[in-house]
Amino acid sequence: MSKVLKNALVLEKDFSLKKHTLYIENDRIADFAMGEVEDLDGMLIMPGLVNTHTHAAMTLFRGIAEDVDLNEWLFKYIFPREDKLTEKDIYIGSLVGFMEMVKNGITTFVDMYFYEDAIAQAAKDIGIRGIVARGLADTDGKGEKKLLLAEEFIKKHKDDLLVKGGFGPHALYTCSTDYFKEIIDVSKNYDLPITFHLLESPDERDNFKREVGIEPVEFLDSIGAFGKNTIIAHGTHLNDDELRLISKRGSTLSYNPTSNAKLGNGIAPIKKAVEVGVNVTLGTDSAASNNSLDIFSEMKFGPLLQRAKFHDPKILKLEEIFKMGTSNARKVLPFDVGTLESGMLADLIVVDIGNVSMVPKENMLANIVYAFDTASIKRVMIGGKWVYDGEFLTVDGKKVIEDFEKAYSDLNASL
Ligand SMILES: [Zn+2]
Repeated sequence: MSKVLKNALVLEKDFSLKKHTLYIENDRIADFAMGEVEDLDGMLIMPGLVNTHTHAAMTLFRGIAEDVDLNEWLFKYIFPREDKLTEKDIYIGSLVGFMEMVKNGITTFVDMYFYEDAIAQAAKDIGIRGIVARGLADTDGKGEKKLLLAEEFIKKHKDDLLVKGGFGPHALYTCSTDYFKEIIDVSKNYDLPITFHLLESPDERDNFKREVGIEPVEFLDSIGAFGKNTIIAHGTHLNDDELRLISKRGSTLSYNPTSNAKLGNGIAPIKKAVEVGVNVTLGTDSAASNNSLDIFSEMKFGPLLQRAKFHDPKILKLEEIFKMGTSNARKVLPFDVGTLESGMLADLIVVDIGNVSMVPKENMLANIVYAFDTASIKRVMIGGKWVYDGEFLTVDGKKVIEDFEKAYSDLNASL
């Protein structure tokens, strides 16, 4: 199971590029290993990217609700379709979502959805690493059952190195305050990620205040929702004091620039978040609101939005944004990912530096962040296994697309 990758340029933790041999022993990078030698001359090896907020199965909803606001998008288009989804649909939708991620260089994901076994199966069939956080809501009166399922799933995957469970209380507007508190209490028994949507749209703050009588962040802090295992999705409308609190608590903020912009929700306060020391990562959100699952494009669009807003081209430097797409996630995930060092998981992508988007080679990090063409990704390795080399090595890509198209037509016919 050992591999020796020779002659490629390797993007190091300090962002230098060195031509050196990378040794892989089982699923990790090692100081030395004897094994199959591969010559990767003309290639660049970089860590795989991490997508900290997604709903992979929603590839089944790509393009179905364009040019509408979040409420209409969610209540008129998404929720009625979600009611009809079968476990088989979730499997095939997730499979396509994960295929797209891997093809675009994503090797780790944090997913929030339901039918967690089907999502985990899809991830394992592709060979992608991730957190499957059970989506939790109690608007249908079935909150308790869902929480039990989440715990069951977590226990089942306790020793799984590729897929682990997590908690996904959907949002303050889909979970009652008692239920949210219960989830947080239960989550404290496990050292695993807990993730929720927070202040994604402009009216969430006032709606919550009107119904509950206190500020959303104040409520969440009172129940201990902000800890080192917490990934806040969006946080588009967090204010300065709230960001300071989140930084103090050590939580992570998943910045989803494309989804926020596309749904007209605003620009997340990432300039401030970074200033006050919040750990920021990147997320695509789903194919229904993005519409692609590509962290390279978030690495470009994320800083551009901040710079356009503040008229400042110095916000989010190359190194900072690259860490948001890779190593910052390590602080909140139970996986050693994000840098190519000895002892870390061998999750990496091999890029053709002869691709037009990668020349001249003078500032490779700028090429990666601002000029990247995902067609330059030649191979993807996760946990020491090649899963993609222009085609999928783990699944029959053509057959998956056929099954997906059939599931999509059947779903629409059932509405
Ligand atoms: Zn989301």
